[in-house]
Amino acid sequence: MSDSHSSQNFETVAIHAGNTADPLTGAVVPPIYQVSTYKQDGVGGLRGGYEYSRSANPTRTALEENLAALEGGRRGLAFASGLAAEDCLLRTLLGPGDHVVIPNDAYGGTFRLFAKVVSRWGVEWSVADTSDPESVRAALTPRTKAVWVETPSNPLLGITDIEAVAQIAREAGAKLVVDNTFASPYLQQPLALGADVVVHSMTKYMGGHSDVVGGALVVNDAELGEELAFHQNAMGAVAGPFDSWLVLRGIKTLAVRMDRHSENAERVVEMLTRHARVTKVLYPGLASHPGHEVAAKQMKSFGGMVSFQVEGGEEAAVAVCDRARLFTLGESLGGVESLIEHPGRMTHASVAGSALEVPADLVRLSVGIESADDLLADLQQALG
Ligand SMILES: *Cc1c(COP(=O)(O)O)cnc(C)c1O
Repeated sequence: MSDSHSSQNFETVAIHAGNTADPLTGAVVPPIYQVSTYKQDGVGGLRGGYEYSRSANPTRTALEENLAALEGGRRGLAFASGLAAEDCLLRTLLGPGDHVVIPNDAYGGTFRLFAKVVSRWGVEWSVADTSDPESVRAALTPRTKAVWVETPSNPLLGITDIEAVAQIAREAGAKLVVDNTFASPYLQQPLALGADVVVHSMTKYMGGHSDVVGGALVVNDAELGEELAFHQNAMGAVAGPFDSWLVLRGIKTLAVRMDRHSENAERVVEMLTRHARVTKVLYPGLASHPGHEVAAKQMKSFGGMVSFQVEGGEEAAVAVCDRARLFTLGESLGGVESLIEHPGRMTHASVAGSALEVPADLVRLSVGIESADDLLADLQQALG
């Protein structure tokens, strides 16, 4: 955590880091500095370093300071989306001929970025089962510059041992990147476990209200932080002032929301594991989950994402999604409202036919913070 907040607990940091009272008015919340440029006091006489809002904007700075403190890093950077953050990171770390190891279970958009975009610039990639550290070791080449991990993963809720993979990456001279979107920094802090870079889609739990798209990178290494900041400005996919403000507002309740997301998910999992039409429940909180012990070691609780498979294949899974009422049928996740989706036809359609293809009978839930009883009743009726 940044020095001034290093002795404070997460809930306090979430509310206060970066949120200093406005020096002009005393406003207790950072104002939305909806501005592109700044008056200079004589040529080059910048006030507080602000020159042009692509390079820096006070509302974004407040969020970036908050992000760094939340992940226990030195530098936080806010982008227009999670994928914009990923793109900036990949183009900072990798060049033609470099190699990256990616998980066999990753967000579909991340896979598409590697397979269809970055690969055109001569970046090589191979797929590993990152839940098995030896599979990561086996995928390394002398040109490997980065290992990409998503834990828990989307949508199969696979768990990767961050500490073990960090060690393997370090020995190979590669950077370990952890997509921490599903856990949020309240449940898991990858930098403390040895990761080099944390990635977030702030669209999900950080924003938390399904009203903003945003992304983040957090690092501990000051030099890497500078390189990323250079690329952020040079490429330009920055978070706007209003979007930054919305995410800052969302983060203030992150801890209480995540506690409730986890509690509600546990109730849902308990019901699903007993349901006759459910053939498998994927949730790291289950003792039977292969990554349960690692998840219990590196996460505070198991989060709000639950996937399950239903009897009757693809048609049955799609029918469950169609019948749900309180669970809104939609992509995305991490908002206060519960969502349901069919990954094979929706979020993960872009990985069809690849090593990352997901089961056709899979349903994914983003369990919200409504009454758990109401959520259970809706799932019961949707399962028929
Ligand atoms: C949504 C998501 C992303 C991409 O973020 P966007 O904000 O949609 O660009 C990356 N990783 C994970 C795990 C996600 O769920």
